[in-house]
Amino acid sequence: MERTYIMVKPDGVQRGLVGEIIKRFEQRGYQLMALELLHPTKEHLEEHYKDLAGKPFFPGLIEYMLSGPVVGMVWAGKEVVKIGRKMLGETNPLASLPGSIRGDFAIDVGRNICHGSDAVESAEREIALWFPRGVPEYKRDISVHGLIYE
Ligand code: UDP
Ligand code: MG
Repeated sequence: MERTYIMVKPDGVQRGLVGEIIKRFEQRGYQLMALELLHPTKEHLEEHYKDLAGKPFFPGLIEYMLSGPVVGMVWAGKEVVKIGRKMLGETNPLASLPGSIRGDFAIDVGRNICHGSDAVESAEREIALWFPRGVPEYKRDISVHGLIYE
């Protein structure tokens, strides 16, 4: 089953949007595999965003991400990486359509509420980084959109 790493950034936590973001993934039909509120270190955040080291906004991004706790989650389901990104919206909230999380709740690229993995490989790297003890699978025994997940 495809998995992605979704994180509510410090501004999303401060603004009380954790439940709203969880709700959207739940109602879409994705399965919650892991969830944790945590206070990451600078080194941890630099590792998470290592592909962006050297970008002009990198120091500001790390400072923003250190401004408070974050909520990390693993969600699983069909094409969850791509659909998760669609649900988040564009990196710049001003380019995000209403109906997306950023399009409904943000206007500043430097305060864009949430993170979502951009590819299956980066999702697996991020899940290993944020949930190093592993993410156990579990069977979901409810009907989702008329389908029973195996
Ligand atoms: N970011 C920023 N200014 C920019 C581009 C990105 O502050 O010009 C921040 C923004 O918070 C973004 C994060 O850096 O979410 C990571 O950038 P990326 O290009 O990976 O965007 P994302 O995958 O989060 O949409
Ligand atoms: Mg990214």
